[in-house]
Amino acid sequence: MRWGDFRRSDNVEDRSEAGSGGGGFPLGGGARLGGGALIVIVIASLLFGVNPLEMIGALDSGGPGAPPESQQQPPPGYGPQRAPAPGQAPSPAAPQDPAKDFVAAVLGDTEDVWGAVFKTMGARYEPPRLVLFRRATQSACGHASAATGPFYCSADHRLYLDTAFFNELSRRFGAPGDFAQAYVIAHEVGHHVQNLTGTMQKVDQQMQRLDERSRNALSVRLELQADCYAGVWGFFAQKRKLLEPGDLEEGFRAAAAVGDDQIQKRTQGYVVPETFTHGAADQRLRWFRTGLESGDMRQCDTFAARGP
Ligand SMILES: [Zn+2]
Repeated sequence: MRWGDFRRSDNVEDRSEAGSGGGGFPLGGGARLGGGALIVIVIASLLFGVNPLEMIGALDSGGPGAPPESQQQPPPGYGPQRAPAPGQAPSPAAPQDPAKDFVAAVLGDTEDVWGAVFKTMGARYEPPRLVLFRRATQSACGHASAATGPFYCSADHRLYLDTAFFNELSRRFGAPGDFAQAYVIAHEVGHHVQNLTGTMQKVDQQMQRLDERSRNALSVRLELQADCYAGVWGFFAQKRKLLEPGDLEEGFRAAAAVGDDQIQKRTQGYVVPETFTHGAADQRLRWFRTGLESGDMRQCDTFAARGP
């Protein structure tokens, strides 16, 4: 992916060097937030059926772990650094952290794409902020840790991304590559789009009245739509010839790897479809492709589809 050509977003909040738990939203234990906010944090992640304890165990034993704060390692899979675009002078201070630079580039491009898409609908796109953290931080939706995986918090309009996650994606999920990483960010941005359009609130309200099984089914539709929206962003990246050979395959591999069936097989050895909250690999792949091939968010109506 020629991400060196992307405009950098100013909306990245880097808490990765502030130590664990830095910054954030002291909300007194989240007492102000009802169960609804809690549901939103759970459903608006990328990963989803992962057993947090299992993930923590993996991190502690031979996973990427957490290097000392002073040894920030960029995630693997970044393309070659390119010369700054005209008007983008290199920082005179310390060289830009490549991980942060990558995230700012992808986020910046999603801002441009969704800004244009919203404009065609006569609406204004309010970009989200992206919080880069290491190990743990606070969000308006509660405590965030590496085990949570990337997620979007509707209450503070922020994406939360642990810098170690891209290593996870490459090593544990077998989905390396910059476009795979961009898909993760674009999926969370997709949740932000759902928040702006009101879909997330509608789903959240419906969920309060449903039993667990039906809640899960609704959650799957919400997640698949975020995958489709990630594809819509990819469509425009592709249209501007910013993708390189192999990028699409990287994205497809990532979308499939985070399918609930794949994760359950890996973590518990068997699959329980009614517990799916994000969709099976083939569904995630199909909806990501739907967005990628159409570039039309109206094609992403996973709620109308008879079966996602
Ligand atoms: Zn999600």
